[in-house]
Amino acid sequence: MNYFPIFANLDNKHVLVVGAGSVASRKIELLRKTNAHIHVVAIEASEQINQWHQQGMVQLQLEAFEPTHLDGKWLVIAATNNRAVNRNVEQAAVARQLLANVVDDRKLSHFIVPSIIDRDPIQIAISSGGEAPVLARSLRADLEARLPASLGKLAVLMGNWRDRVKQRFTRPGQRREFWERVLSSSVPQQLFQGDKHKAEQGVLQMLNGKSVSEKGHVSLVGAGPGDPELLTLKAMQRLQTADVVYYDNLVSDEVLELVRRDAERIYVGKKAGAHSCSQTHIQEQLRDAALSGKRVVRLKGGDPFVFGRGGEELEVLAQAGVSFDVVPGITAAAATAAYTGIPLTHRDYAHSAILVTGHGKENTDIDWQALARTDQTLAIYMGLKKSSTIAEQLIAHGRAADTPVVIVERATTERQRQISGKLRDLPQLIASYGVESPAMILVGEVCELAGRYAWFGEPLQPVECASGF
Ligand code: SAH
Repeated sequence: MNYFPIFANLDNKHVLVVGAGSVASRKIELLRKTNAHIHVVAIEASEQINQWHQQGMVQLQLEAFEPTHLDGKWLVIAATNNRAVNRNVEQAAVARQLLANVVDDRKLSHFIVPSIIDRDPIQIAISSGGEAPVLARSLRADLEARLPASLGKLAVLMGNWRDRVKQRFTRPGQRREFWERVLSSSVPQQLFQGDKHKAEQGVLQMLNGKSVSEKGHVSLVGAGPGDPELLTLKAMQRLQTADVVYYDNLVSDEVLELVRRDAERIYVGKKAGAHSCSQTHIQEQLRDAALSGKRVVRLKGGDPFVFGRGGEELEVLAQAGVSFDVVPGITAAAATAAYTGIPLTHRDYAHSAILVTGHGKENTDIDWQALARTDQTLAIYMGLKKSSTIAEQLIAHGRAADTPVVIVERATTERQRQISGKLRDLPQLIASYGVESPAMILVGEVCELAGRYAWFGEPLQPVECASGF
């Protein structure tokens, strides 16, 4: 980080602006939003700055810059169109260990003024550290459009109620929960629509009510297949309000980045070499964390109810009377289909799709006859290890040996790989390409479309299977 972000309180502090043209005006306009004493030094001044001077908003001295002008100042902004003068200002500031900003000259500046979204008292500052100003501007425009203009009113209202809320709830966790409930209630909308009285009433009612639970809560959240942009808004909201997040190895780092910074993150995956937790232990941890009053997120790859043991986790919570909710995620089959451009169903190729695991309790449980039907797509989860059995059994039960298959490794991530071939070659394809988990195997006529609607990642790899397959 080259720039340390701070919001400076300039109340009653003296600030110097050197220069009095249009560039200086822009900076002064921003400074005028604070309670700083603004001094301007310049050999001549624009009409605008003269006017501000006459109105007593700035103090103007029409003379050349001298280092003594820095006496008693906290900050200085050099905004002349003369580089030598600007450099003098910078050097004089250095001599006095004052922070100087030279407008439009990053090299000479000790601090930069970020682009801001002003919803006073909410301020959002954006900076690219001078690397990509256009990107910073576009982010700003994006945020400007998204944030209601009256967001500041909401912050003021929350500030006014803060002490009373503190008295009512002693634990910080309860207070946070209270405010989150206010934010997700109709209070903000009422305020944005100008009905301050109704909004205040709403807060009062919630404060007097018994609705803020003293007990914790568990959200079973689908993290999707890897790409963080595939999270639902609800999943995002849960990650932002969690006290503790239990996650496993299918959850991508990018998704974990979105967890509230102060939340505890607990890995409960089963990656080789790493500490692994038994399912029972995970279930007990979730229950106990909730019973101790925490907002718990159980974050699972894909969708929690598709080969995710979500049902077992809920059972324990239900038995303990813990409140919970479930946030669906994009399951690997859907993600793989989308990111390879291979529809799971298609009127010309497949009338149904079956989500199936290659990791079932025992293969004897599997109805191979049903799985081997034509006109349907199989989306096989956790199928790498059993790929020989899968191919053999499907063929033995009537699926054509040359049925097209596609194997997709790490779908939706930067490392997505896609391999296509025939059902009879499935185990060899996996071995020769060194396919690793997580990978999805698609089997069925829709796989003929492999490559036709490809839009993501590297182009298809050529199939190199040992002869005879
Ligand atoms: N609940 C998850 C599935 C868990 S089982 C879901 O709904 O997606 C784990 C299996 O899911 C993996 O072995 C693999 O077959 C599949 N899988 C998960 N993420 C994947 C990804 N990004 N790419 C391909 N397959 C994936």
